[in-house]
Amino acid sequence: MNKNLNDDPSTFSSEDLLDSQLIFNKASIAQKVVEGLSIKQRIDFLLRANDYIMNNQEALIDQICKETGKTRFDALSNEIFSIGDFVDYYRKATTNLLADRKVQTSIVMMGKKSKVFFSPLGVILAITPWNYPLYQMFMPAMTAFLAGNATIIKPSEHTPLKGVFEQLLEKCGFPEDAIQIVYGNGLTGSKLIACRPDKIHFTGSVNTGKKIMAQAAKQLIPVELELGGNDPAIVFDDINLSRTANGLVWGAFTNAGQSCTSIERAYIHENIYDSLLEELLRITNKLRFPSNAQDCNSNTEFDLGYITVSSQLNIINEHLEDALSKGAKIECGGKLIENSQYFEPTILSGVTHDMIIMQEESFGPFLPLMKFSNENQVINLANDSKYGLSASVWSKDLNRATRVARKLKTGNVSINNVMLTEGNHALPFGGINDSGFGRIKGSYGLESFCNVKSVIIDKQSKIIDPHWYPQTKTKYNTMTDLMQTFFMKTKKWIKFAIKGMKMDALGNKEKI
Ligand code: NAD
Repeated sequence: MNKNLNDDPSTFSSEDLLDSQLIFNKASIAQKVVEGLSIKQRIDFLLRANDYIMNNQEALIDQICKETGKTRFDALSNEIFSIGDFVDYYRKATTNLLADRKVQTSIVMMGKKSKVFFSPLGVILAITPWNYPLYQMFMPAMTAFLAGNATIIKPSEHTPLKGVFEQLLEKCGFPEDAIQIVYGNGLTGSKLIACRPDKIHFTGSVNTGKKIMAQAAKQLIPVELELGGNDPAIVFDDINLSRTANGLVWGAFTNAGQSCTSIERAYIHENIYDSLLEELLRITNKLRFPSNAQDCNSNTEFDLGYITVSSQLNIINEHLEDALSKGAKIECGGKLIENSQYFEPTILSGVTHDMIIMQEESFGPFLPLMKFSNENQVINLANDSKYGLSASVWSKDLNRATRVARKLKTGNVSINNVMLTEGNHALPFGGINDSGFGRIKGSYGLESFCNVKSVIIDKQSKIIDPHWYPQTKTKYNTMTDLMQTFFMKTKKWIKFAIKGMKMDALGNKEKI
């Protein structure tokens, strides 16, 4: 019987999983090859992949735009540039990050050495979304590869970029099956999970994230979830009006709002609300969007692309209708362009927190505005969300902006900019609450694909450690004395040395 996505994944038969299991078998063999490469060799592959992408930029952008309806500039800056910056960071950082790390060993363990090793986890399953299809495949797969893993990528069925990754891997001579791409929908993803990868890296919606975590829990597979957001922008009254307005418009409408960290709600100080709204409208009304998909793909002079997945339009319309029915006002935009998937960039005023648009991720070109009067009030408004991905704070007073950034319940904050933390690959990226957990990018991102192994190294000698058997009253009293001299706030070094020698002597007594 054919399965569908709503079936209980634990009911997959071994026949259902035959194809997926084959993919895993190949990945397990390939993983040994990847692990056997030196870090330098892995970085060389990364650099070759980077060169391939830079050399084939225009052809790649053609295919990305065809499948997503992005503008060429969005594809350039969000996919190609992001890959370049990712590679630039890890080409320099990986060797140090994966080197054995010496850590402190307490003086009570004198003579021993402590280290952390970064070993591969094994086979990683990366399940990726449609909004930044190339970058979202490239980034986890290459980070996992650098850490010595094999990866299976399950791209979104909406933007599979069929053949792109295979060609890159072949042209760059990657070890066979080190990175495999498996096309299909959620059911395909679910079957791959059933084959028990060593880790799942998931980027996508909250609902799917919950399903994946539930399935993974049954087999205790570690998961990392990069989910949606409902990012606030907080604008104080001491800003440069023009720069901030330009930043807000871009932050809300880039990629037609289909970005996990795009501005989904903006809180504007009451002193500047009217003048900022005027500036926002002036800029937004000048944005250019094409009349058909063909134009968008061939021309670099457009600002907004189309809504990639038609079902997303239902969500956008539902959020807008709900807001309007509860008293919101359209300041500009608000319509789908006839016979197309272009939704006008839309600014809304009069919004409140009982509207879906302020609570849920719309993933569309909306900029809802709300007034605030003081710092505490705006922090509470920004934190009134089940999500916690990113935020932006705009103020000339950097002390205030930093203070507010500290209090925001999000994984990322940009100050006087927007969506910029993810632009710097040295910074870890990820969310809290319904935006998921775990971190990608930066040192944490590489470590997240490693078995972070703690190792303590002692010498082979004849001495029996004093805390080993037998446990005696004398040892108990000596150890108590030792602790009292060492772990108290004021350390008594001479007494500690005497007690230490006594403890060692007790151990020596047990010499074999
Ligand atoms: P989605 O959850 O619909 O799908 C994501 C992937 O999961 C796809 O490959 C899909 O085929 C697969 N999938 C669906 N059901 C599955 C199941 N039961 N088992 C296994 N795999 C399954 O997400 P989407 O619509 O492709 O992407 C948009 C969402 O992604 C938005 O919510 C956005 O905020 C989020 N996103 C988050 C980040 C981040 O870094 N936090 C980045 C980009 C996008």
